[in-house]
Amino acid sequence: MEHLTILYRGPLASCDYDCPYCPFAKRRDTPEQLRADRAALERFEGWVAAQEHPVSVLFTPWGEGLVRSWYRRALVRLSHLPHVERVAIQTNLSHRTAWTAEADLATLALWTTYHPGQVSHERFLEKCRDLHERGVRFSVGVVGQPEHLDAARRLRADLPAGVYLWVNAAEGRSYTDAEAAPWAELDPLFSYSRRPHASAGLPCRTGESVVSVDGDGTVRRCHFVPAVLGNLYDGSFRAALKPRACPLAACDCHIGYVHLEPLGLYDVFRGGVLERIPVLA
Ligand code: SF4
Ligand code: SF4
Repeated sequence: MEHLTILYRGPLASCDYDCPYCPFAKRRDTPEQLRADRAALERFEGWVAAQEHPVSVLFTPWGEGLVRSWYRRALVRLSHLPHVERVAIQTNLSHRTAWTAEADLATLALWTTYHPGQVSHERFLEKCRDLHERGVRFSVGVVGQPEHLDAARRLRADLPAGVYLWVNAAEGRSYTDAEAAPWAELDPLFSYSRRPHASAGLPCRTGESVVSVDGDGTVRRCHFVPAVLGNLYDGSFRAALKPRACPLAACDCHIGYVHLEPLGLYDVFRGGVLERIPVLA
């Protein structure tokens, strides 16, 4: 095995924010559910540590992971493993950032999202500046809701120039050219997010060199195709890894279509595929 990319999503489903456009099935996790999430994460971490081939991991929790100590610890530990090339997490950046000092910053990366309405400009910007000063690799994103445009412009203007700001098309919204233009000014790659990508029958690296794993170790090719390839912990998924075409009509999420081969996004995001940092940033 040359290299395996894993998108990990455990049972955690609670978040300290309450965005009206949140696409996730959020809930309040009970202490028992949190214990189960922690146990699942630690098991996964142990599995990654035991591998002999290169691995990259993106944590894509349904809620916010970095407010939980076990996610911070897993990121730090995994970042120090020589065969782990990248370990990244999607986060709202609400938590303090000091823990990153313990990580190997050549391997750690953050996919952060700014949620105007949940956090002030000043507070979010301060976190970004702090990460930048610490030398942490991170991207910053905004959901392209019309009411976020001013906040996104202000953030772009104040962010360090080398920090990439991406814009996600809001779920279920289509953009006319006139509506898309201001977003594309902020994110030169907005065109990739603007419309879902027709993907049926096209080769996609998921199910071959990229997999999605849940808290039980169930392996699927990606977060969107429900068919099970096997289990991580008994190794049964390995026999199923092979070149595959996408069985769905469309793929509309960066964590999916970035692996869709005809789009060529591994070149655009070379070295930053998981944390969404393009070469131009
Ligand atoms: S920060 Fe993310 S997970 Fe939390 S409420 Fe907002 S969109 Fe949902
Ligand atoms: S194109 Fe998207 S939905 Fe289709 S297999 Fe790849 S990641 Fe999954």
